[in-house]
Amino acid sequence: MSIAENILYFDAQLRNTPCRLVAVSKTHPAEKVMEAYNAGHRLFGENKVQELIEKRDLLPHDIAWHLIGHLQTNKVKYIAEFIDTIQSVDSLKLLIEINRRAEMFGRTMPINCLLQISIADEETKYGMSYDEAVALLQSDDYRQMKYISVTGVMGIATNTTDENKLREEFRYLRGCFQNLKETFFFAKESFKEISLGMTSDWQLAVAEGSTMIRVGSGIFGERNYSK
Ligand SMILES: *Cc1c(COP(=O)(O)O)cnc(C)c1O
Repeated sequence: MSIAENILYFDAQLRNTPCRLVAVSKTHPAEKVMEAYNAGHRLFGENKVQELIEKRDLLPHDIAWHLIGHLQTNKVKYIAEFIDTIQSVDSLKLLIEINRRAEMFGRTMPINCLLQISIADEETKYGMSYDEAVALLQSDDYRQMKYISVTGVMGIATNTTDENKLREEFRYLRGCFQNLKETFFFAKESFKEISLGMTSDWQLAVAEGSTMIRVGSGIFGERNYSK
């Protein structure tokens, strides 16, 4: 299927769900992003700052860009002016810098941030523990932030086809979301996102309550390197 057909397919699949599609365009050129754009899609994800800013310059500015990969503190300044959502917030230090740079750019809309929580067994994956996320939200630094909005959680599941294992990890993240919601965001509608699911497991993720699936190869085709 073409990129446009894939976009329409996902639109149809997600129509009666609360879940949105983040089209992950990493490694694919701007022309391919444009094909999805022309099919009506406006929400795209990239995992590297350099690649993101190059594509952003080439593409229409009504695209909502999500950063989904690990973000170094010293690179926040390159994206803080325009980024819609940073899905990969994994420390208080990073969040402080995001808030600081958003303020410097005089943003009128806050930068949406998801707390990345580690749910997979591989220790190499970035992300906070649930307790670290709690500590972040309890901190005085966090309470004073005016230029960011914590809108939910994100997780990267173990790379496996074992459905039970995936289900367990998805449910764990959903439990984290619900606890954080009750503790810190009670009655705050802005805290609503559970970013879970990729090409291989998005259906399961939607069934387990994902509100954002991040699909790359399922839309744009295989990448020439695996990332
Ligand atoms: C690349 C990437 C995806 C998309 O992976 P696919 O298997 O191509 O759908 C999703 N989430 C993150 C964090 C990624 O880096």
